[in-house]
Amino acid sequence: MADDTRLRRTYRYRIYPTVRLRLALEAQLGFACQLYNAALEERRYAWRGRRRSVTLYEQFRELTAVRAAKMGPPNMSCSAMRDPLRRLDWAFAAYFRRVKEGVTPGYPRFRSVRRYDSLTWNSGWGVRDGRLALPGIGQIKVKWHRALPASAVVRTVTVRRVAERWYASFSLRVCGSRQGLATQLPAVGLDLGIHHFATLSTGEQIPGPRAYIAAMRRLRIAQRRLCRREKASHRRQKARLLLARHHERVRNHRHDHAHKLTRRMVCDFGLIVVEDLNVGGLARGRLAKHVTDQGWATFLRMLEYKAAEAGARVIRVPPGGTSQACSGCGAFVPKLLSERIHRCPQCGLIIDRDMNAARNILRLGLSRQASTWPTGACVA
Ligand SMILES: [Zn+2]
Repeated sequence: MADDTRLRRTYRYRIYPTVRLRLALEAQLGFACQLYNAALEERRYAWRGRRRSVTLYEQFRELTAVRAAKMGPPNMSCSAMRDPLRRLDWAFAAYFRRVKEGVTPGYPRFRSVRRYDSLTWNSGWGVRDGRLALPGIGQIKVKWHRALPASAVVRTVTVRRVAERWYASFSLRVCGSRQGLATQLPAVGLDLGIHHFATLSTGEQIPGPRAYIAAMRRLRIAQRRLCRREKASHRRQKARLLLARHHERVRNHRHDHAHKLTRRMVCDFGLIVVEDLNVGGLARGRLAKHVTDQGWATFLRMLEYKAAEAGARVIRVPPGGTSQACSGCGAFVPKLLSERIHRCPQCGLIIDRDMNAARNILRLGLSRQASTWPTGACVA
């Protein structure tokens, strides 16, 4: 990784809008949703009728007329109004990318106001006296549970509603510091699995958060309650909120687990080798519930940015074959998914299946690094 790497990071804080501020936020979210749907309608119509694509910049220009006509909540900034149009443009970009890749694409859909939960400002906002100042809304109290990094250049702020709680996420760029410091630290191979969240080539096994499975019962009850409630009723709304809270808890559990584990990894190791898993593909398969529960994608993303900050290196090696090969002699030892122990008839090696895989992953990673990685750094 280059020395001048500027990492994109997000710092999220809970915010506490007063009733008046909350209503102002909701008004702007509602208008953003309308803009999103109107812009989508325009693109659909232009394509169906005249086979013409409407670009983001054309839609930006039309926004000028909307603003001149004083539509939307008072003082809603241009930046906030452009945001839904930009999001729609991303949705179309993703759609065309999927078409190109030959994956079944889902056409961008109209959004319901109830589910339109976030809005991004990339200018016009600020922090005054420790409060988040948003144009057309006001100054909102922020719980600064940790400081923003001193070297950070904050680009945008996104305000999001999650189960009737509000959060502000600051997207910023920080410099990848401490480059090269970690090269003295040992290398490790990491096997991500269903049985254990991760198995290290050192033999250590790390249990997963399993938050979803554990919270399953409570989720099921909350889901059932929601289904019983009459549509559009006040009690249904309460049940929906409760369900959303459960989901949020699960998400927090998973993030907490990933944060702690990735921090430990980049502190203890200088080179971390992982399998380049197709998490999206796995999450659609038979083991889907377990895969999404373990949160591998989140874990790998965190591992990569924390490693870059700490000067550690993460290498992804192609998956496949790592559990079948013997890490002692390289012999091919086929086994079923249910066989938990690796027994090699060639060299007599008997170790845990996942540990065998982790060692193979480490060896694969080191073989790619041979010239730059100090020998002897390998933990066998
Ligand atoms: Zn062997």
